[in-house]
Amino acid sequence: SSEKWEINPSELTLMKEVGSGQYGVVCLGKWRAQHKVAIKTINEGAMLEEDFIEEAKIMMRLCHPKLVQLYGVCTQQRPMCIVTEFLDNGCLLNYLRQGGSTSRTWLLSACQDACEGMEYLETHSFIHRDLAARNCLVSDKNVVKVCDFGMTRYVLDNQYTSSTGSKFPVKWSPPEVLHYNKYSSKSDIWSFGVLMWEVFSEGKTPYDGRSNIDVVEDITSGHRLYRPQKASSDVYQLMYKCWHEKPQGRPSFSELLKSIRELAELEN
Ligand code: ADP
Repeated sequence: SSEKWEINPSELTLMKEVGSGQYGVVCLGKWRAQHKVAIKTINEGAMLEEDFIEEAKIMMRLCHPKLVQLYGVCTQQRPMCIVTEFLDNGCLLNYLRQGGSTSRTWLLSACQDACEGMEYLETHSFIHRDLAARNCLVSDKNVVKVCDFGMTRYVLDNQYTSSTGSKFPVKWSPPEVLHYNKYSSKSDIWSFGVLMWEVFSEGKTPYDGRSNIDVVEDITSGHRLYRPQKASSDVYQLMYKCWHEKPQGRPSFSELLKSIRELAELEN
């Protein structure tokens, strides 16, 4: 096909498997013998493919240094695959757990990176829907980029898409998502607060040991995550603001970014 989002599979070289996710395996590869790319194969029956292909045309136009770039898709073959920018240091959650970079300065810069990517999405009225440390990647220069934006809409797995399913990201979801499935940039903000918490607790699981049902109850009755040891009270205050019960009570990504930049300035 000559469509500009279509990548010719003959221009891809598969190098090695680096992980596996909701849709299938992820490989490191080269595109046109030059660009390092991540090639995600989509298992048959794992995705609403037609809908995704339509959306991919829009996602191709989302370009920002703090977002993992979509390069294109191979839709003329099965399994279909998605080709994106490759990030050498892998998933942020594993990076944190392995003690990749632990200074408070870096932890804040990781949050700033993710916030910059999210501000761009907010400006373009694009809702992520599944923001979490597991959906961010780290580059060879330790820059954090947001990935998998909007992708949950194409998952064919009730355990993942139903708010009562076992794979639903309950611990990253605000009350209006848990109760009414109401997504917005303000629901992304709540998730961003949990992402900040994951970063400053160096990869801990939020509400560890609590079941999803308990977390829904806790959140609804006003309980919130505690301050991670590495978070100053200023940093904790920022994440806490993201967990306002009402969407309109939470900051926007552009406001949050301003505050994060001010804190980063103070540190220098
Ligand atoms: P899921 O869809 O379940 O979120 P992914 O398919 O996005 O999972 O990714 C699975 C794993 O593959 C990640 O945890 C990461 O280690 C690796 N991976 C995914 N995308 C990339 C990429 N662009 N660059 C480097 N590694 C990646």
